[in-house]
Amino acid sequence: MGQTLHPAGKRGSCFDPPLFTVTGEGPSMKARILIVEDEPAIVDNLEYALQTEGFETLCRATGGDVPALLESEPIDLIVLDIGLPDVNGLELCKTIRQHHSIPVIFLTARSEEIDRVVGLEIGADDYVVKPFSPRELCARVKAVLRRAQCAPVPPASRPPLEVIDHKHCIRCFGQPLELSRYEYALLKILVEHPGQVFSREHLMARVWDDPLASMDRTVDAHVKNIRKKIKAVQPEFDPIVTHRGVGYSLKENP
Ligand code: CA
Repeated sequence: MGQTLHPAGKRGSCFDPPLFTVTGEGPSMKARILIVEDEPAIVDNLEYALQTEGFETLCRATGGDVPALLESEPIDLIVLDIGLPDVNGLELCKTIRQHHSIPVIFLTARSEEIDRVVGLEIGADDYVVKPFSPRELCARVKAVLRRAQCAPVPPASRPPLEVIDHKHCIRCFGQPLELSRYEYALLKILVEHPGQVFSREHLMARVWDDPLASMDRTVDAHVKNIRKKIKAVQPEFDPIVTHRGVGYSLKENP
């Protein structure tokens, strides 16, 4: 049997919240569960059980592209096998935790204490040991989602750089930066993916209308201007990191 890992006080408590709706996505959205598991029979059983309960499911047999998937797909909960063919599920959970607070339920074939302790330390929300019944897992998914929906919103600490999308504006310590169209688009990508290194080519392709006609140096010149504008607001603040020969990233805790 699995063991529930939810340290007291980590989640808030409340009565009878809506089960399968997604906060902020409108009342009719089904909760989306990502199943990362390489044993097809388990995946089939889980998908069937979760879909029967009204969940939407996505499946991956390997963990390698999960971080990228989380950037592009809204996911409400991850059922994560620890023994994946390409990566260790525990390591993958650590990686996910750097940027996301999505609830994670571990699946494992092993019942050693060490896994449970490590799972708890790296922020798993629950833990199910194989073999388990799909019904049991469904019950746990519901319980974890319920807790997640009741989780207290962390106190708002405003980041130094904020993208105000509808105003096409980026604020630095509350002050709007006067950015050109390309400077805005470039800084927006960096701010929205702190810690992620973007190559010049990637930035060029995403920001410029006609990347082929532009030069690599264009990115450098724009980053230089952005830095100057940020410095004008806050002289000590230098959040953009240059990765020589590669590209740029935004510091994770600028
Ligand atoms: Ca496995």
